[in-house]
Amino acid sequence: MTETFLGNEAVVSPDEIVDRRKPPICPHCLVQMWLTEFTRKETDHGSREIREYECKQCGFAASSEVRGPLGAGH
Ligand SMILES: [Zn+2]
Repeated sequence: MTETFLGNEAVVSPDEIVDRRKPPICPHCLVQMWLTEFTRKETDHGSREIREYECKQCGFAASSEVRGPLGAGH
């Protein structure tokens, strides 16, 4: 027995744009955006990771910032 799931992709909600791991989805084209820049900063309050994304189709830009917990990764 074989089952196929063509066209059965889950709809992505706008909330998932701020997902910290995978690239966000362009709200206009609903395609995965490209990571264009990644910056990591170490501060007294922990680390910060700033990611810049861009949609290759419409040029929509987005960025996400993730703050790591203080003292993590020691
Ligand atoms: Zn787009």
